[in-house]
Amino acid sequence: MQPARHRSRLPVITVALLGFVILSACTAPTTRRSAPDTQQVAAEREKQREIAVDYKVRQYVRLFRVSYPLLAATAPMCEGRHRPGLGYILISRDDFAEDMRPAASRVFQLGGGLQILDVFADTPAARAGLQAGDELLSVDDFRVGGERGMEIRLNQFLRNGDPRKPRRFTVSRNGRQLTTTVRPDTVCDYGLGINGAGEVNAMADGDNVIVTKGMMRFAETDQELALVVAHELAHNTMKHIDAKRTNATGGLILDVLAAAAGVNTQGLFSNIGASAYSQDFESEADYVGMYIMARAGQPLRGAADFWRRMAAEHPASIASSHSASHPASAERFVSLEQTVREIQAKQARHQTLLPEREGRR
Ligand SMILES: [Zn+2]
Repeated sequence: MQPARHRSRLPVITVALLGFVILSACTAPTTRRSAPDTQQVAAEREKQREIAVDYKVRQYVRLFRVSYPLLAATAPMCEGRHRPGLGYILISRDDFAEDMRPAASRVFQLGGGLQILDVFADTPAARAGLQAGDELLSVDDFRVGGERGMEIRLNQFLRNGDPRKPRRFTVSRNGRQLTTTVRPDTVCDYGLGINGAGEVNAMADGDNVIVTKGMMRFAETDQELALVVAHELAHNTMKHIDAKRTNATGGLILDVLAAAAGVNTQGLFSNIGASAYSQDFESEADYVGMYIMARAGQPLRGAADFWRRMAAEHPASIASSHSASHPASAERFVSLEQTVREIQAKQARHQTLLPEREGRR
């Protein structure tokens, strides 16, 4: 009996203590403030939605603009995976969650249909005279309406047949109807996306290239962003995912930050949950990626500095480690510089810019 009575007294003490803690945490504020005006709050909420959609869309525009010439430059390396490249971005109300649609409609002056958000310089769309703000009415005999999923259906239509087939675009511009012929580029058919994660990373899964929000921020210049995208495209074109599939857990393969984190990656990627490529594949993606950059006309000078900045951000990445799945940043810098010299020598001799296939590096 005694021990039981003793035990039953403990919860009483605990509850009393808890009550004290809760009471002291609930001490009321002592300053007098006026409540925010509900109308002003509602207006501010819409303003913030406008800022949010604008920011998000501008990130996508940057990623697509930087990636377009890379996808075109990679075309000879992605056998059997081509689509027509037009060089524009389309936008519609469909692209936004319901609560964001009114804000998006105001910011981008969206009507009911598919419209051109941006046209990249020196692309088929630009050469054909298409402009940002044009609303698509038809492409050849495909009528472009405002129904859900219209962009996907249009892209399926464009994928049918020869990717280089000239297409007749009819658009509405300032209430006037215009028709023009677009002669598409052939580009590699890989998807592009931005992942909401804050860490500095990028991924490739054989079908897509995904860049994290953190990487979009970290890659300050377009050259740096191109370096990241070209590296991921190289993983896809070199079919590293197929070679790796046997031990992959599925899903996207984490990439650049794994290098920076060296061996100490435990828990770091638990929320995304996939393993990284091997050191050999990483080195190859760096090497082939540099060729993709060169073929796309990106300046190579200073591109390797990316790894010096990464080292500054993640000092753990500097030292080489044999047990790490990724080469260290010091090694990656020196190898990239070496590749740049190899490519520059070819450029000087007007040779074709394709990776050396013999004598694997
Ligand atoms: Zn990689």
